[in-house]
Amino acid sequence: MVFYIYKMKGINYVVSTNNIKGRTKCHKSSCYNKNSKKYNLLVYQYIREKEMKIELEILFCYKKNCSKKITFLIEQFYINKFNSFNNGINSSNAFLSKKKRKKYNEEYKEIRKKKYEKNKNIISQKNKIKINCCRCGSLVRKDCLKRHQKTKKCKSLSKEELDFKYDQNAYNEEGEFLEWF
Ligand SMILES: [Zn+2]
Repeated sequence: MVFYIYKMKGINYVVSTNNIKGRTKCHKSSCYNKNSKKYNLLVYQYIREKEMKIELEILFCYKKNCSKKITFLIEQFYINKFNSFNNGINSSNAFLSKKKRKKYNEEYKEIRKKKYEKNKNIISQKNKIKINCCRCGSLVRKDCLKRHQKTKKCKSLSKEELDFKYDQNAYNEEGEFLEWF
């Protein structure tokens, strides 16, 4: 495995990759393709605004195998060195110590809470959808499934239904029952 840490030329933005050529291409398409999910990333907004060329400067190259954690640590070393999180375009850190992660998580708890409040109605609408219980086949509200599966009704029905042969494919990824075989 080869792994690189690079900085965007003229921008305080430090990232890692294992494929410099591919990454350059990626940056170019993300930056100028309005349909790209990454089009609105700060770094691309910056590049378009300043009409900059996308060029990568390799800061570090490692050609041996190492764990993901080590790659994050090295990336973080360079983010710290260039101060690119606090004083640059990096919108996240690569590696945080336990203490820092705790602080970070606390700060983001609030943001997540706000996001949840905003989407609350959509979430509750989604939960109102009824699905068949994967154990007994009863129709239950999606958010009540776990509670339902602890009830006597489900447990006794499940025993009866166990005699049925059912196809593994009748379950979706969440283990919810889709249809009888
Ligand atoms: Zn059930």
